[in-house]
Amino acid sequence: MSARHVYVHVPFCARRCSYCDFAIAVRARVPVDEYVAALDGELALRAGHVARADAHVDTLYFGGGTPSRLGGEGLARAVDTVRRRVTLAADAEVTVEANPDDVRPDAVAAWRAAGVNRLSLGGQSFDAGVLAWMHRTHDMPQIGRAVDAARAGGIDNISLDLIFAVPDALQRSWQNDLAHALALGPSHVSLYGLTIEPHTPLGRWRARGEVEEADEDRYADEFLYAHRTMVDAGFEHYEVSSFARPGRRSRHNASYWQGVPYLGLGPSAHGFDGVTRRWNAASYVEWERRVASGTDPIAGAEIIGPGERTAEDVYLGLRTTEGLALAADELDRVGRWIDAGWATWDGERLRLTATGWLRLDALAADLTASRSR
Ligand code: SF4
Repeated sequence: MSARHVYVHVPFCARRCSYCDFAIAVRARVPVDEYVAALDGELALRAGHVARADAHVDTLYFGGGTPSRLGGEGLARAVDTVRRRVTLAADAEVTVEANPDDVRPDAVAAWRAAGVNRLSLGGQSFDAGVLAWMHRTHDMPQIGRAVDAARAGGIDNISLDLIFAVPDALQRSWQNDLAHALALGPSHVSLYGLTIEPHTPLGRWRARGEVEEADEDRYADEFLYAHRTMVDAGFEHYEVSSFARPGRRSRHNASYWQGVPYLGLGPSAHGFDGVTRRWNAASYVEWERRVASGTDPIAGAEIIGPGERTAEDVYLGLRTTEGLALAADELDRVGRWIDAGWATWDGERLRLTATGWLRLDALAADLTASRSR
């Protein structure tokens, strides 16, 4: 099956954020030429998995890492490299994840000229103390300047990432942060609860007793406050972490939630052909070395069998407002979810509410277990 969605992982970051356990390569100087050549090399290896001229690619997404670290011209070359190997639909969604400090007018002009039409900005917070604690490279005013520069350069489809449920000790006002975000008029907002992973600076701070994560009640309070505030402001809460103005949902992310094939390029990138999920070597150095020698940089693969498919269908259905069709004998099982206000049933599909999304993992596991018997 050929893919209509392409993900490109750009691993470079100026430094590691305190909470981050992604596959990144910290570089003071980004090896743009080497990276773009390796991207072209992997595309040549995988050309057969990409949609051809008769089946255009609908979405192209540069994630990371920090793709904006490639700079204006570097990122434009990466987009052109993909375009030479695959045919993008005329209305393709082309997204770039960017740190606010990289979004300057000259860079935006180069990205827009290359066809980038959506920016995903890693804002995370508007609180100076929180940004410093997170080891972010930007300050609060740079978030607003990045939004202005993107709009002035012709990219008005702007998504903003924010992190909630940070430790109490930081005394961050979630209400203020959401108000600042809304004041910038983004078309999309993604909200992520802070999790502390062991192999991160934050994980080490916790091991030393220097930091404590927010408790479940505050996580729930901030999530539900965001739900109410964003919906009141005209956003659709269409996926557990995602809010969009009407018509501005992420088409690329929707491809993951619909379980359709996608091609993944770059270190640590995952791909799916409809049957098998595969992933690349996580290390940039290893990925580049293997591609440069003409070797497939694959690190592993798994066939998505009926059991995994069932679990994924349930989880993916419940995490979005698309919801899930149920068999007649499953209605009894979910009746108590509806009574508790965790889900709704319209006669055809079950949809979780915001309070249901707070229990997403447990509810998905419960339904999967009953379907697997
Ligand atoms: S910018 Fe993103 S990918 Fe890079 S270290 Fe920070 S959180 Fe991780």
